[in-house]
Amino acid sequence: MECQKEDNIKKCPCTYPGCDKKGLCCECIAYHLKRDELPACCFPADVEKTYDRSFKKFVEIHS
Ligand code: SF4
Repeated sequence: MECQKEDNIKKCPCTYPGCDKKGLCCECIAYHLKRDELPACCFPADVEKTYDRSFKKFVEIHS
């Protein structure tokens, strides 16, 4: 399977500027999981724009 980077970028809701992992979902999720975080696409827009991608924040918004 070839990387779907260009298609992924069109659907990516991440607003963090200059990230080289944008569209590379496998690298994106690995990066965030190592830090006890989730990728931008796991959060609603108002939370995503705060760049708080922690598990704690994810649980908080779903409690
Ligand atoms: S969620 Fe994180 S790793 Fe993924 S594109 Fe945005 S800033 Fe980069």
